[in-house]
Amino acid sequence: MSTPLTPRSMTENGDALDGGPDEGPVESTLDENLRVPSCERCPALVESRSRIVDGVGPTDADLLFVGEGPGAQEDEQGEPFVGRSGDVLDDALRDAGLVRADVRITNCVRCRPPDNRDPTTEELANCRGHLDAEIDRLDPELIVTLGKVPSEHLLDRSVAITSESGEVVDARIAGASRRVLLSVHPAATLYDRSQRDGFFETIARAGELSGTAGDGSAGQSRLGEF
Ligand code: URA
Repeated sequence: MSTPLTPRSMTENGDALDGGPDEGPVESTLDENLRVPSCERCPALVESRSRIVDGVGPTDADLLFVGEGPGAQEDEQGEPFVGRSGDVLDDALRDAGLVRADVRITNCVRCRPPDNRDPTTEELANCRGHLDAEIDRLDPELIVTLGKVPSEHLLDRSVAITSESGEVVDARIAGASRRVLLSVHPAATLYDRSQRDGFFETIARAGELSGTAGDGSAGQSRLGEF
């Protein structure tokens, strides 16, 4: 894992963090918990959000899930994937012997787009510095892109997500070569039930590839905390 000794526009090696397609490096000031204390870069999102929804999970997790952006529930609760898509993700994690609290979950944009529209190219680019800084600091074994938007954003190419889901590729992200597992978005399984098995298999693969999968009993140790 990296230590945050460099300016957030740079990697540990001093390479500039990518600012997204055709963008220069984008500054980000994440705090020690990888949170964005304030950001006003996207006028429409500042208007529509209740709060900034930062990533959750350990700041040294081996496995990072990247979604598109917060929906209504996430905006309300301030945590990624806590609505219906989050239920599907949680089920798949449990099925794979993974514990939600052991993985990191974040989004391409941290503020809820109005009317649940997709984030625009400009909004994605505006938020890229935060995402790249999070990835640089986390330095995960594996990144799982949940859906077409994060897959295209991080791989910087068009992606046919239904057919490419389950594939592992290497991509240069946040100044380093990273292993990326493409996945359909968990919501796809709600619209199309036939995608559920494939989604669950992909999440199981994520556990194996990142070395994170156990028997799911790690959560037991935390029961004592409550
Ligand atoms: N969909 C996403 O892409 N991200 C969330 O946090 C919730 C739903």
